[in-house]
Amino acid sequence: MTGFGKSSEIPPDPSVLMDLDISCGLSDEDTLGEFVGNLLRRGHGWEHGRPDVQAARHRQEDERAARLRDEEKRRREAIEARIEEMNRNSAAPEAAFGAHTVHTEDGPIVWATLTQCWNCDHPMLLWNAESARPGRQHSSAGTLEVKREVGPKRYENHPDVHKAVNKWMQETRADVQKATIKPRRSKTKAAEYSAFVCPECDALIGQMFVSCIRTDKWSLISAPLLKRATAEPAKATGPAIDPRKGKPQRQRPPVAPALSTYYERPIVPEELQTDRRKTWAELHSPDGVAEARRKFMGTRD
Ligand SMILES: [Zn+2]
Repeated sequence: MTGFGKSSEIPPDPSVLMDLDISCGLSDEDTLGEFVGNLLRRGHGWEHGRPDVQAARHRQEDERAARLRDEEKRRREAIEARIEEMNRNSAAPEAAFGAHTVHTEDGPIVWATLTQCWNCDHPMLLWNAESARPGRQHSSAGTLEVKREVGPKRYENHPDVHKAVNKWMQETRADVQKATIKPRRSKTKAAEYSAFVCPECDALIGQMFVSCIRTDKWSLISAPLLKRATAEPAKATGPAIDPRKGKPQRQRPPVAPALSTYYERPIVPEELQTDRRKTWAELHSPDGVAEARRKFMGTRD
């Protein structure tokens, strides 16, 4: 094992024998010194059984580990396939019912997505809600962050949130059912939580899967009133400017993506904020600005 045998010469300093490499042998230790040390401290640790029995046992253990790895890989692939399917079957509500956001005094910030049941294909509306910060006015709804985990009480089930979702459905005439929220036990944590379930067949729409629906499949359907103190340039500038003549005088900065910048920025009209299918460059091109003027100032050309 070490290359040192009965016929080998003993070196002048025999202690160097302890440094011999035995890492390719059967024991866990790397050098003969470690091996002898452990033998003296803990006694022998040989495996029982003839070499062929031991080898068979090792083979079995390897096979078992490979099976587990395989199962884990298949499990992960199945989850990824379900996430992919969920995304394929989901759409932004504004794509189906038009861009529309319900604005409330200090109500919740609600994002919604249209999806369908993995079990029975029934279409339904799912939503993610966040409370507005009291006493603060928002100039943007912030970025969407869908909760990955929820507890037994979830804000999505708050009456204010239901009210906002219902109002949006009424105003857009969205002929789709809301998902139902029911207590369910999570498999991994054995804790109860309030889950979305299919209104038709009661199948669980796991929150982990909901959180994996891509951002472009969601629309902002309700948000607190936006701050307007600096947002009335249209009325202040007197007669309407013909949008066909040259560039608009004022370029507005893009909508702030975060909730932290409330006060400094001029406000982009609310319809433009919800119309997220257009890029900022499109919205601020002469055509985009002209269209916005027509919408908000009643200018006709
Ligand atoms: Zn269903």
